[in-house]
Amino acid sequence: MHSVETFGAVDGPGVRYVLFLQGCPLRCLYCHNPDSWKLTDGKKTDSKRVFDDIMTYYSFIKYGGVTLSGGDPLLQPEFSSDILRRCKVIGLHTAVDTAGFAELEKTIKVLEYTDLLLLDIKALEDELCRKITGQSGERARAILDYCESVSKPVWVRHVIVPGLTLDYEMLAKLAEYLSGFKCIEKAEVIPFHKMGEYKWEGIGSEYTLKDTPAPTEEETEKARQIFASKGLKI
Ligand code: SF4
Repeated sequence: MHSVETFGAVDGPGVRYVLFLQGCPLRCLYCHNPDSWKLTDGKKTDSKRVFDDIMTYYSFIKYGGVTLSGGDPLLQPEFSSDILRRCKVIGLHTAVDTAGFAELEKTIKVLEYTDLLLLDIKALEDELCRKITGQSGERARAILDYCESVSKPVWVRHVIVPGLTLDYEMLAKLAEYLSGFKCIEKAEVIPFHKMGEYKWEGIGSEYTLKDTPAPTEEETEKARQIFASKGLKI
């Protein structure tokens, strides 16, 4: 595991216990948690110990729930699904926050115990997706297709970055694509920020977006309205 946030309010409904798992197969240019990339850098634990810790916060999170984030929780599917399974046994709401770069077969096992999927769609255009993350977005789209087929609730998240994804034409195309999914309950536009920049120095990697500005409030609002205009709940 990477870390824990015991009163998370943005990664799913209500007050949540958010467990950040270590390890991510992507290398997003704007990542604010590059210290979570290497699987071997985290703290070793097991699903029972994590669950016991979750239980100590039960009275605070019983109307919210538990979210697994990262890194990427789909990189450790057995660990993730066992934590979620234990939570489901006692009736806690469960969410998984992922960029979806995982094999569908393994993901399905995690989704079995997941009430809500928080799915990052980095870019619809594969070339751009590779530029941002180093990988194709095909697997994330396959996971979204699967969620649609089983009516699994999804909140999509999309980061807008000037010079990369802050393009109103591309945003309209993405909104059009997302609006075809009944399983999507919410589509959030997240403005790029540089709060994790200092961590890149810490891991000895170059932060190539240091001269990229954050989107203005007007730009962010315009992007959100493009999503809303296609019927997406923002
Ligand atoms: S998916 Fe998330 S944790 Fe992984 S590199 Fe991208 S922003 Fe960082």
